[in-house]
Amino acid sequence: TDIHVLLICGGGGSEHDVSLRTADFIQRELASAPDIRLTRVTMDADGRLLDDQGQLQELRSDRLLYSATGSAQPVHYVIPSIHGYPGETGDLQSQLDILGLPYFGCGSEASKICFNKITTKLWLTALGIDNTPYQFLCANTPGEVAKARDALQKWGSVFVKASNQGSSVGCYKVSSEDALAEALQEAFALSPYVLVEKCLKVRELEVAAYTYEGELVITPPGEVCAPTDTFYSYEEKYAEGSRAQTHVVAEGLSEAQLGWIHEASKRAFVGLQLKDLSRIDFFLTDDGEIYLNEVNTFPGMTPISMFPKMLQNQGHDFSEYLAALIRGALG
Ligand code: ADP
Ligand code: MG
Ligand code: MG
Repeated sequence: TDIHVLLICGGGGSEHDVSLRTADFIQRELASAPDIRLTRVTMDADGRLLDDQGQLQELRSDRLLYSATGSAQPVHYVIPSIHGYPGETGDLQSQLDILGLPYFGCGSEASKICFNKITTKLWLTALGIDNTPYQFLCANTPGEVAKARDALQKWGSVFVKASNQGSSVGCYKVSSEDALAEALQEAFALSPYVLVEKCLKVRELEVAAYTYEGELVITPPGEVCAPTDTFYSYEEKYAEGSRAQTHVVAEGLSEAQLGWIHEASKRAFVGLQLKDLSRIDFFLTDDGEIYLNEVNTFPGMTPISMFPKMLQNQGHDFSEYLAALIRGALG
């Protein structure tokens, strides 16, 4: 009998549109699976699920998806294709846990930890994994801002980041006190906590870590080359004519560096109890130091995104990978 999969995309965060593109990719990849029937709904900013005609759909505790016309269909498995709130943040996963529905990707707790840039760092430190030096701010008050100014003075330039955003939203590169005040203002408007990170002159390396046939696969790092004058911003990630270049396999890394990245990725995946997939991002400085930057529990899968490319470069087929996870979760 068919497996009914509910693909939930969109969501109420700043990454709503990116989530739709990831869902397009997933939908295309699953189209060829003969035993999987996919229903796609889009979550709007109020958390309502709408079908492609804009009709309200509701997933209830009997694990049936009810349409506005009163018909209902069973749901066996859910794909939360949402970057940011409430998918990548773990909130939707909590709801699915309560419903007893299996789903694609990391559990609610791992999602929550990794989406928050501060808890990520606390965990990485606890796991003994080097991460970018930072200062933590819990309010936009004079005392806290003084800490940010000290950080700016010490490090010359810094990255100000809202703690709970992705896709470079709420992320500002700052080298002056005026710019710092402005960036803090904007970051605090987005999140209750803010990080001020040392700005590293870097290469950006990304690893796909995922389970394939029950085994943890950690790909060699790929590389994202942002334009030199800025950083890997929202526009560079998704806009037409993006100047960012990606390489599925990064060149010129030593065996020791590759080994370090592999070990750190594995320790992060296992230690944070990730599930199914993640993209783990690193910075490599000019001095050869490597820091783990962040763990993305639901990496983008748009045409320029690295995660599917790295998986495919490993000789793995994305549709088979996903279909096998779905069948495995129900088997
Ligand atoms: P997001 O979750 O929004 O992707 P990141 O922490 O990955 O947030 O930051 C977005 C981008 O900003 C990175 O891909 C990188 O280009 C740049 N960046 C972030 N932190 C630093 C840093 N400490 N030094 C240099 N570049 C940084
Ligand atoms: Mg992120
Ligand atoms: Mg990032």
